[in-house]
Order: sequence, then structure tokens, then C-alpha cells
Amino acid sequence: MNKITLFNTGKVFEIRSGQSVLDAALDAGILLEYACKTGRCGSCKSRLISGKTKLLYEETSLTSAELDEGWFLSCSRTSFDADLEIIAEDLSGYPIQKPQIFPCKIDDLTYLSNDVLRVSLRLPTGKKLSYRAGQHIDITAAGGLTRSYSLARGISSGGALELHVRKVGGGLMSNYWFSEAKSGDLLRINGPKGTFFLRDVGGLDLVFLATGTGIAPIRAILEDLNRVGELEKPASVSVYWGGRRLQDLYLDKSEFKEGVNYCPTLSRGDASWDGPREYVQNLALMHGGPLSNVRVYACGSSTMIEDARLRFVNAGLKPEHFIFDAFVPSF
Ligand SMILES: Cc1cc2nc3c(=O)[nH]c(=O)nc-3n(C[C@H](O)[C@H](O)[C@H](O)COP(=O)(O)OP(=O)(O)OC[C@H]3O[C@@H](n4cnc5c(N)ncnc54)[C@H](O)[C@@H]3O)c2cc1C
Repeated sequence: MNKITLFNTGKVFEIRSGQSVLDAALDAGILLEYACKTGRCGSCKSRLISGKTKLLYEETSLTSAELDEGWFLSCSRTSFDADLEIIAEDLSGYPIQKPQIFPCKIDDLTYLSNDVLRVSLRLPTGKKLSYRAGQHIDITAAGGLTRSYSLARGISSGGALELHVRKVGGGLMSNYWFSEAKSGDLLRINGPKGTFFLRDVGGLDLVFLATGTGIAPIRAILEDLNRVGELEKPASVSVYWGGRRLQDLYLDKSEFKEGVNYCPTLSRGDASWDGPREYVQNLALMHGGPLSNVRVYACGSSTMIEDARLRFVNAGLKPEHFIFDAFVPSF
């Protein structure tokens, strides 16, 4: 067993041989940022101060400059027979439920657009999934195929488990959802997972960026945002949702309640579209003022997230104030 010291908090935890730094922290009850756990999304980017690490997964979301500066992904590395000192954001102050495995059944399947399906799931009687709005679950279908999907409803919905699934051409799970799935199918869920949930919001300007089904966890967050006490209320809430065509904006604008500055945008809208034709990140930066009071929550394609992060940070946003969930493909 080796030890890891979280340099920024002084917390110390143990790591087993071959275990990822992230899993070692989670096992010790220390919540570090994470999402995909396969080295692809970059949510668990951390910094190595001392010690040697060994690669478990290729860190595809880090640039060579970041690797040279000592950045690493906590999901992708274990210790190389040495104690480690690292810097990583500690979210333990936001308690979350440990992931659990449940059987579930498909309750309903409804097309929200040509290529987005709303999947409603039902847990066995008496079982309830406890989660923070914004988190995702892993779903396993017959045959063992597993993919991650964000929960599209907040806990204030009374436990409705709803997913928004986009069809990916040639995708294995997409083929199941869009060609084979039917009400009553038995599936397995493992969750809640990830750390895409609201941090403190009191007095802050919240900027949500979404592409496609990236709106699903943001919709859940907005639903639960109505529950926060008056003292903790954000100063403002803006939602920038982008797609290529009109059908990509598959939720009615009435979903975005009064008090939310809702800004839909299309990159390839047809002649009937009289709204903006900008990427969400560009539109948000055009509208915004100083970034010191802003917290950005971005979800959807990794292309949008990488570009948005770069642009917001270059414009003065602190990197830790850009929270994201990238819908990266599985292996
Ligand atoms: C944390 C997390 C949350 C997610 N939440 C959602 C969600 O709420 N809704 C949702 O629709 N999806 C979500 N995804 C994506 C989802 O898990 C699957 O990756 C997606 O449904 C494709 O699976 P598939 O089996 O159909 O395709 P696969 O068989 O895995 O892939 C088929 C081909 O398509 C490519 N591909 C796969 N996914 C994408 C993509 N997103 N963009 C471009 N190319 C792709 C692959 O590289 C491969 O070449 C999430 C992913 C993560 C990591």
C-alpha cells in the first residue's frame, strides 16, 4: 500500500497496487471530480507534486504541454510503487450517494425528435435512486452492453428516472434503443455517478452551456434549482442551448421557467430560423460581462466543451469555475 496526500487539503489516503488514484480517493470517502473514468473526458484533471505514477488508460484529453507541466488524470493513473502528493479539487463537502446497482424496467419510450428518445425507467417497488441533479447512471442492456446516460429530471420530480438518448449512427446501444427497446425490457443501472452537479450558487451568475442531449442534466439541475432557499439563490441563470437544426432543440421553451435567460442557437438553422447562428460558447461570451462572478456548467460534445473552456479561461474565468460533463464515446 502507498499513501497519497491531497496537498491542497492535507487529507491522506491509501492506494492499492493497480488501483486508480480516483478510485482510491472515492474508497476513502474523498470525492474528487470525475465523469467518464476512461481517460477521455478530462473532468478528473489533477496535478502531481511528487512521486511516480503508472498509466492505466491513455490520457487522451490532456495535451502534451499539460503532461509536461505535471497534469494527470486521476482515473487513468496509479502509483508506481511510491507515495504521491497531488493537487485535486476536493468535493467531499457535497455528499453524494455511493453508486448502487439496481435492476429496472423500461416504463415508456417517447420520441422527442427524429433522433432523440425519452426513456422512462421504473425501479422495483420500494427502491429509490438518491442522486444530485446533473449526475449520470450507467445502463447495461441484455448481453452486457453498458453506456452512460445523464438523468434528465431533478430529485424534486419525486424520483422519475428519465433519460434523453440521442441516436448515434452505427452505435451499438443506439441500435438497441431505437430498433429493439420496448416497454417492460429489463435493464441494469449502476449509479449515481459523476460530479456534474451544482456547487454553491448564492449570489453567482450561472451560465449553462449545452449541445444536443447535453441539455438533459441541465434540465434536471434547473428543476432542482427552484428548491434552493432565498439566501442561496443565484444572481442570474442563463441557458445557452445549441444544435445544428431546429429539431435538435427538442424541448419546448416553456421548460425554461421565468427568471431563466434562455438563449437557443443553431449553427445550421433553415430560413425559418430567426435566432442566433453562433456556437453556444461564443454567444454566451458575447452576452456576458465580467467573469469574476460567473460559474459555467457545460455539457454535451467534447468539441464544444474543449473550445468553451479555452475561450472562457482566456477571457478571465478561473479554470475551476468551468464545470463540465463531456459525452465522450465509450471504448
Ligand atoms: C458521463 C456521460 C454521460 C452521457 N450522457 C448521455 C446522455 O444523457 N444522452 C446521450 O444521448 N448520450 C450520453 N452519453 C453518451 C453515451 O454514453 C454513448 O456514448 C452514446 O449513446 C453512443 O453509444 P452507442 O453505443 O450508440 O455508440 P458506440 O457503439 O459506442 O459508438 C459508435 C460510433 O460512434 C462514435 N460515437 C459514440 N458516441 C459519440 C458521440 N457522443 N459523438 C460522436 N460520436 C460518437 C464512436 O466513436 C463510434 O465510432 C454520455 C456519455 C458520458 C461519458
